[in-house]
Amino acid sequence: MSACNEEDLAVRAMRMLWLFLLFTSLIWLAPPPRVEARQPAKARGTPIGSRIHDFAQRTSVAFERESYAAPVASSGGIREAIDDKFKARYQQWKTEFLSTDIGRAQWEMYAHHPRLMLTITIAASNPEGAATGKYKWNDSGELIAATIILGSQVDQGYPSSVYYPVMNALEPFESKQLIGGSVLAATKIAHEFGHVMKVASTPESLYHLQSQLVPIYNKIFLSNGYNVQDPRLVKLAQEMGGTPVEIWEDREYWGEANAMLFLRDRVAKEKFHCRLFGKIKQAVEEYAKNYEERFAEIAKAQGALYPCYWR
Ligand SMILES: [Zn+2]
Repeated sequence: MSACNEEDLAVRAMRMLWLFLLFTSLIWLAPPPRVEARQPAKARGTPIGSRIHDFAQRTSVAFERESYAAPVASSGGIREAIDDKFKARYQQWKTEFLSTDIGRAQWEMYAHHPRLMLTITIAASNPEGAATGKYKWNDSGELIAATIILGSQVDQGYPSSVYYPVMNALEPFESKQLIGGSVLAATKIAHEFGHVMKVASTPESLYHLQSQLVPIYNKIFLSNGYNVQDPRLVKLAQEMGGTPVEIWEDREYWGEANAMLFLRDRVAKEKFHCRLFGKIKQAVEEYAKNYEERFAEIAKAQGALYPCYWR
């Protein structure tokens, strides 16, 4: 490929990234839909109490995990803190992520970031999962530190299609040997990059407010007979921009939108890419209808050899 073509591709990738970021900030400003409209379709028919009870417990843990203190970062860049025993597999996953325009563009953006120090590490606990946290902001409210923790076997394991419609959609393609585990690992890396981008575009004050109010919300919810209409809960949700469920869902679906952005590039030349998009679309329509627009935007902006459409 000529240098000129590479330049065009880099420009296109960066344009997509900025569109994505712009879209992120626009969505953040939009008022959240009603609570009942955002419950996963699969959960319909189950008692609302137990469903939200489950969420209350999960989101409490997630928010606590993501709000612990991080070391002070002096300047930006990417710090890869990988144990020797994981280095070979990590390199494979990273190479897969960097095989796409969007992966390279996002990596470069953080590698040369003037302020944000992004640490990437691997942990054996939660081997097939990944998490992002240890956020820190400077006095101007700009994000200056974040840590992505990848599981030591992040190239295995497909999370549920209810909250992870993109990662889950890869499963049949791996079982048919159309993709390898490294693609799944790189998709999970993209999902975590999506979290970093989302938090970077969220006002620090709002993030802290949510971290502070979510446990309070959950505590009331668990003690009031799971009544979401409780005026105290309605007021808390208004203050923090949504219920804990809505905030958590929104964050996860932003991670998935970035995972889709990566896959759009990664499988653009594969004949199965419309089938993959079709599977993502099916899960989004079934479980994440209120978030469909962010996935549809990515699908419509595809520049693939085999165009398929988000009808
Ligand atoms: Zn996530």
